[in-house]
Amino acid sequence: MAFPQVEAFRGGENLIRVVGHRGARGVLPENSMLGFDFSLSIGVPLLEFDVVLTADDIPVITHNHRLHAPSFRDADGRFLSGEEPKVSSLTFEQIRQFDIGRLDGHSAYGQRFPDQAQLDGVRVPRLKDLLDLVADPKYGDAYLMLELKSDPDMAHDAVYRENLVGRILQEVRAKGLSSRAVLHSFDWNLLEECQRQAPDMPSSYLTQLPENADEVGEDSSKSVSPDFRGRPDEIPSMVKRAGGLLWCPYYADLTAENMARAKELGLCVAVWTVNEHEDIARMIDLRVDAIVTDYPGRVQRRLSDLGMRWHVE
Ligand code: MG
Repeated sequence: MAFPQVEAFRGGENLIRVVGHRGARGVLPENSMLGFDFSLSIGVPLLEFDVVLTADDIPVITHNHRLHAPSFRDADGRFLSGEEPKVSSLTFEQIRQFDIGRLDGHSAYGQRFPDQAQLDGVRVPRLKDLLDLVADPKYGDAYLMLELKSDPDMAHDAVYRENLVGRILQEVRAKGLSSRAVLHSFDWNLLEECQRQAPDMPSSYLTQLPENADEVGEDSSKSVSPDFRGRPDEIPSMVKRAGGLLWCPYYADLTAENMARAKELGLCVAVWTVNEHEDIARMIDLRVDAIVTDYPGRVQRRLSDLGMRWHVE
């Protein structure tokens, strides 16, 4: 069975797809409607973003399980300090009170994105807000890499998983967008639940070798990901056996060997998060299917210089 939402991420002759990571984190506030709008407006209709549930069961688009202090400001315009509250402990109305338009340049996380525009009055969107945008006929070529973030404290609770997946699917189906989204996660148990509830929606398996350290400020719930230590070339087979159609490795983990293995298995390979010029060049040389990046314009520019495409006419 061919899934249109997998083919949308597949490369080809002279073709490598570009995926806007959290919209376009390098240039606009991450996981904001502004960032998604920007990516769509520059001809990058593939969007990666992160979904977490609030206390009132609303799927919202934000990366961490806790409000991330370097990008959340309170009503007085101050970045959060002290213990960060959990998204799951707040209602959507409470989360909407925070402004996510700026980054704290005094934080290590803020220093990673020195070019991000600084705005006021930007709010955490609901999943529904993004679905409403891409349901617009003018964005009929938009496809979603919808990352489900499992709460590390709840990841081993089957009822929690069933509800998280169920609420997200309910919203996607209500908009008639199940053929335009792939379900993407580091948590393979959660992806198993996705396949159970949505056999019509392909799963996208995120992986990262533990030896390739995390960058500061990321909370990616990898505690529930399998341990690939010392066996990077086996990952594609593990993804395939789990029922994956897309494999999304951390770019530093990708080798000519495991890339070749993934291709033999028919997997679509989308690497994340590729921001530096030399890394973008190496991923193009390896002929990945798709590059997930905080700087979609930068990847477009490289492909353009090489006479390559990022979309099909
Ligand atoms: Mg993500």
